[in-house]
Amino acid sequence: MTTAATTSSLPSAPNQGHHGPERRGILFIISAPSGTGKTTLCKQLTTSVAGLWHSVSYTTRKPRPGEEHGREYFFIDEKTFQGMIERNEFMEYAHVYGNWYGTPRKALMDKMEQGIDVLLEIDVQGAMQVKKKFEDGVYIFILPPSMDTLRARLQSRASDAPEEILRRLQKVKEEVWSYREYYYIVRNDDLTQSLRELQSIFVAERLKTKRLDMQWLEQNFILEKETKPTDR
Ligand code: 5GP
Repeated sequence: MTTAATTSSLPSAPNQGHHGPERRGILFIISAPSGTGKTTLCKQLTTSVAGLWHSVSYTTRKPRPGEEHGREYFFIDEKTFQGMIERNEFMEYAHVYGNWYGTPRKALMDKMEQGIDVLLEIDVQGAMQVKKKFEDGVYIFILPPSMDTLRARLQSRASDAPEEILRRLQKVKEEVWSYREYYYIVRNDDLTQSLRELQSIFVAERLKTKRLDMQWLEQNFILEKETKPTDR
């Protein structure tokens, strides 16, 4: 696959460039029905966008072949998950396709405080919980090209049983209506094009006036004394 855009064409990492040193990390939230190519896209985003940290969720689901504890997810049992809920360790959590999934609060807050942008790849229920706390986050919804394509993609992923596929397709039909809650929609027809679109969203959001460090702006441009050529 050709890489849609190289790192060098994307905006600089946090704590540099236009935003000054005191910038807080931006929270990016991506939701998508399963089989849309979201996981592939998110992986490519994290490797191609500088200064972006992909949060690793906790889940009670069993690992799929090739998945590693601490990389795709932290795979834990229900009792451990419940304990984390009781200790308020999740920013959000939800029951999805028969398993629990949750975003660890502390790691996310620490990264944002350090000025690092955070990417959450979570379902619609979780995204809506986060939206109540972070209206300022960037909510992105990825759509499959069509239901037929989605069905074919889910069927080709041999890891899921036919009943599971049906359940997921039904969920997609319900979830698609949530698109209105999101600020951006990317329809994943073509991986390269979708990656380019996602990268553009990241670029644009990082350059927004409201995210600019005003102190840095004033010190550098507005409060700077004009020196006459003769004073030099
Ligand atoms: P999968 O089991 O296929 O990796 O993920 C199933 C669904 O759970 C996907 O829609 C995925 O985005 C969602 N998910 C993964 N991690 C989290 C999480 O921490 N919180 C919530 N609410 N959903 C999650």
